[in-house]
Amino acid sequence: MKSYPLSFYPSRPATDHLIDRFDRQLSYLRISVTDRCNMRCDYCRPEADLYQAESHAQVMRYEEIERIVRLAAEMGVNKVRITGGEPLVRRDLVKLIKMIAAVPGIDDLSMTTNATLLKKYAKELADAGLKRINISMDSLNPLRFRKLTGGELAPVLAGIDAAMEAGIEPIKINTVLLRGINAGGEHCEVAELIDFALSKQATIRFIELMPMKQGMAWEKHYISTDEILQRPDVRARVDVDAALSTTNSAARYLPLKQGQGEVGFIMPMSERFCEGCNRLRLTADGGLRSCLPEDQQLNLRDLIRAGGSDEAIRSVFRRAALLKPEVGSYDFSSDSDKRSMISIGG
Ligand code: SAM
Repeated sequence: MKSYPLSFYPSRPATDHLIDRFDRQLSYLRISVTDRCNMRCDYCRPEADLYQAESHAQVMRYEEIERIVRLAAEMGVNKVRITGGEPLVRRDLVKLIKMIAAVPGIDDLSMTTNATLLKKYAKELADAGLKRINISMDSLNPLRFRKLTGGELAPVLAGIDAAMEAGIEPIKINTVLLRGINAGGEHCEVAELIDFALSKQATIRFIELMPMKQGMAWEKHYISTDEILQRPDVRARVDVDAALSTTNSAARYLPLKQGQGEVGFIMPMSERFCEGCNRLRLTADGGLRSCLPEDQQLNLRDLIRAGGSDEAIRSVFRRAALLKPEVGSYDFSSDSDKRSMISIGG
């Protein structure tokens, strides 16, 4: 066989988009910038008091994250979401937002936050190039909110208002459905949360609880979207007979009966949304994951810190794409070392 000098080979293949084995193009990178959080939601960090956050040195530096985003963008990633942990507890986050907003090819930059610190940062984030924001809020009842999260509701409400004033649009509110806490039975807050979102011209999305880590009382608190849609107070507000509309996100939407707008349902348990999944995830300590509930992840941080080349990083992305399963599976076995959302990044 004829051999050619190395320089003969193009350094990158002609089509360098990240396509997985099931023909899904991976164009969305969710980046956890910290696994620290100022809240203590049981379902997110189940063994809260035992949870050991990564040390400062383990966490990806902003320059490392920017390099990864730049290479990912060259491979077709155009959408980035910053998450955590709580992203706003990381120092100088606005600086990272600016850095990512400046990467050619990234045209959708968003963040998921618990909004406790948003009042302070909303304007700076908007100025830095943050386009959209998702705010997690599981209750409108201050006492219940405190019990569930260990935090206060008032700063979250102030954060929502601040984001609106700063012109960060659209605002989406994400609520995890928890039987016996905020969903089902007489304490169900779904209708009230729908009214609240409408009053703020925000879109609310209800998320089915995922069994992310052993030790979580998933069976006790899981409630399906179907069950929520049977409730008379929900049916009075939501047109449950309309066809569920899909966007390119994981949510399905139903129109509101009054006013304009819709309500979203994210149903990882009752309806897998893997078919159109275009996501990759980067954990705070530099693990590249192609499927939320699967344990497998590839270590980009160590590669970068060992002097890995751009091409070596690209090849890790390609490998992650090839590892992406057709359908993610949440298994309940006790020896599973699945990690909680706080460390993967929600
Ligand atoms: N701290 C930020 C926040 O609160 O939005 C970002 C990280 S948090 C892990 C992202 C989202 O994951 C939140 O909306 C949270 O409710 C959701 N989440 C965490 N654990 C979950 C679980 N077991 N099932 C469903 N959603 C979960």
